[in-house]
Amino acid sequence: MTPVFRFAPSPNGDLHLGHALSAILNHDMAREKNGRFLLRIEDIDPQRCRPEFEARIFEDLRWLDLSWEEPVRRQSEHVETYRDALDKLRGMGLVYPAFLSRAEVKRRVADLEAQGGDWPRDPDGTPLYPTEERELDPALAATRLKAGDRHLWRLNMDKAISRLGQERLTWLETGDAAPERIQANPALWGDVALWRWDAPSSYHLSVVVDDALQGVTHVVRGRDLYWSTPVHRLLQRLLDLPEPIYLHHRLLLDDNGQKLSKSLQSTGLRALREAGATPSDIRRRITL
Ligand code: GLU
Repeated sequence: MTPVFRFAPSPNGDLHLGHALSAILNHDMAREKNGRFLLRIEDIDPQRCRPEFEARIFEDLRWLDLSWEEPVRRQSEHVETYRDALDKLRGMGLVYPAFLSRAEVKRRVADLEAQGGDWPRDPDGTPLYPTEERELDPALAATRLKAGDRHLWRLNMDKAISRLGQERLTWLETGDAAPERIQANPALWGDVALWRWDAPSSYHLSVVVDDALQGVTHVVRGRDLYWSTPVHRLLQRLLDLPEPIYLHHRLLLDDNGQKLSKSLQSTGLRALREAGATPSDIRRRITL
């Protein structure tokens, strides 16, 4: 089987050295293994993504001397495909409309914590969504949906996990060390949102659907997405999608030890280029 790699940036800012590391790793690994290298534009969130950034991504990657297969998949053009996946999960009774606002959840968390209670949090530190609406009366839910109340479609995590029965959910992590099977625990995230009122689909849903549709065999991405992998593996099992091999690479940090961000100009590829850096300087800086 031909190995298929992909670099999947979101056009919500300029690429920085961390993106260069990801893109070059994927590109070079594809070359080494006689595989394919795809570029996917993850522009599912219309609030944050801009076509100007997409054009700048192409420009930066070309400057790095990377080439990829055409046509490039753009997630905003495939919303129906993600909706089909959501419908499939809905048909399995695994998703429900969730109406609590962020402010309401925040208030509840603050109340509980003021009383000395402990609200469970996900690996990013965000409080887990309350589970009471899993049991919302379907007639009431239908009325609220019809009235156009703001909502998100969430995965009933307990029900989703119990569907796997006795099966152990794992992923194969490869990297500098020997490949290792990692135990995946998606329950860490609680009832994840799969479809948002303000943006069609979610990162989790669209990424697993696309990786499968594009035949991606190797997911090579930053450590910041390591803890998303349990959710991706769960969705892959539920939707009957193939399992890729994963490699979560180290993150580049700035001088203060912080993860690089798209707003940090000093490590932006464009800023570095304008300051006279060459593509080999970039490769040196990311020590490939
Ligand atoms: N679009 C995601 C990002 O820019 C990456 C998705 C992935 O590699 O799985 O962070």
